[in-house]
Amino acid sequence: MTASYSVPQQRKLVTALPGPRSVELQKRRERTVARGAGTLANIYMDHGAGAILVDVDGNQIIDLGCGIGVTTVGHAHPDVAAAASAQAAKLTHTLFTVTPYENYVKVAEKLAEITPGDFEKRSILVNTGAEAVENAVKIARKFTGRRAIVALDHAFHGRTNLTMAMTYRPWPERAGMGPFPGEIYSVPTSYPYHDGLSGLEAAEKTIDYITTHIGATEIAAFFVEPIQGDGGIVIPAPGYFARLREFCTENGIVFVADEIQAGIARTGVWYSIEHHDVVPDLVTTAKGIAGGFPLAAVTGRADIMDSVQPGGVGGTFGGNPVSTAAALAVFNLIERDNLLAEAQRVEKTLQARIGGWAEKYSVVGDVRGKGAMFGVELVHPGTKKPYPEALTAVIKHATSNGVIVLDAGSWDSVLRIMPSVVISDELIDDAATVIEEALAALVAAYPTA
Ligand SMILES: *Cc1c(COP(=O)(O)O)cnc(C)c1O
Repeated sequence: MTASYSVPQQRKLVTALPGPRSVELQKRRERTVARGAGTLANIYMDHGAGAILVDVDGNQIIDLGCGIGVTTVGHAHPDVAAAASAQAAKLTHTLFTVTPYENYVKVAEKLAEITPGDFEKRSILVNTGAEAVENAVKIARKFTGRRAIVALDHAFHGRTNLTMAMTYRPWPERAGMGPFPGEIYSVPTSYPYHDGLSGLEAAEKTIDYITTHIGATEIAAFFVEPIQGDGGIVIPAPGYFARLREFCTENGIVFVADEIQAGIARTGVWYSIEHHDVVPDLVTTAKGIAGGFPLAAVTGRADIMDSVQPGGVGGTFGGNPVSTAAALAVFNLIERDNLLAEAQRVEKTLQARIGGWAEKYSVVGDVRGKGAMFGVELVHPGTKKPYPEALTAVIKHATSNGVIVLDAGSWDSVLRIMPSVVISDELIDDAATVIEEALAALVAAYPTA
């Protein structure tokens, strides 16, 4: 990439972090913003470009999180900003289901082209990932006339009441906030680092659980994240999804790939299920689709999508003209700047730079990932026992040294790395050095190490 950025692509600290202005804002925030909207690092951001965020004190910070995988094309990309502001000056809302507009149709056309499968497809556009998942549930139930919904262990599908029920872990996402809807089932998945099973073995375990606990012909939809994001960058063993796909076809179950986190170029392909060579019936898209503007979609087989009566899906802001303009700019950038190849470059650089950490640092159990989506699983040395305190320490060290990293994993023990795909190799190297300081300190301080 030879793009020039409005902010130098360098980490540069001019105050301690968080800086004085951030500390001041934090005090104001505590008086008015609810505690439940907890934050990972109380560093208040002002602007950004590429892979760098600049905080309110003027510190340049490397962003390895992208607001959970959203700003895949880089922060405040000028093309996305231009498309959104031109649209904002022209038309901001009609509600597509009252009087339509072209941007919505164009996004649906593009989604039909980039999602896996060469059958006829239809899309609906909504605002958030959780809303997309909810709609996929509605559509699959309508199409099949069945009720049960299956999700995998360690899944994350959102924070609305229905999607909370499909989300695996109770804390902090669900605790105390039920009751939840019925007919939602979590089933065993494939987690190669922990179960040591082949894809086929893990799939047989999943299928056996379904057969003995739910009954295959009761199930409307089977939701999978081809690469689990919040669950800890869990990539099922080869063959796992192919066998599940077969099982769904045999039993009339709608197979849904939740690509909200791993889709749209993040893993070096448009949709991460492509790594598994599997074609889902429905795909949900959100996070990275519009460069930070709220937009999400359900895309899939025309017969399934069109089983819903007109008016059966929708919503006031879904497929907003400004968000869809931003999405069209993102699609264009991914093609023009060859961002699938950039994500593959990031994978190569990360693999070379951090891929050996399990051998080098006894607190690292496993390093895994695809494209610009990596996880570093932290364990007590010599075991596979989760080491959440180590993750807390790594995040604290990284954020106070100007590197934003994310947490993940059902045991809060996976360091999640999801930079923009335009991040330079130099920034990856610099950020990795900061993380390594924390890992080395943890190893040195470990009681029996
Ligand atoms: C983030 C996420 C969601 C929920 O999306 P929201 O926009 O936060 O509602 C659903 N599924 C996956 C896989 C996600 O990563």
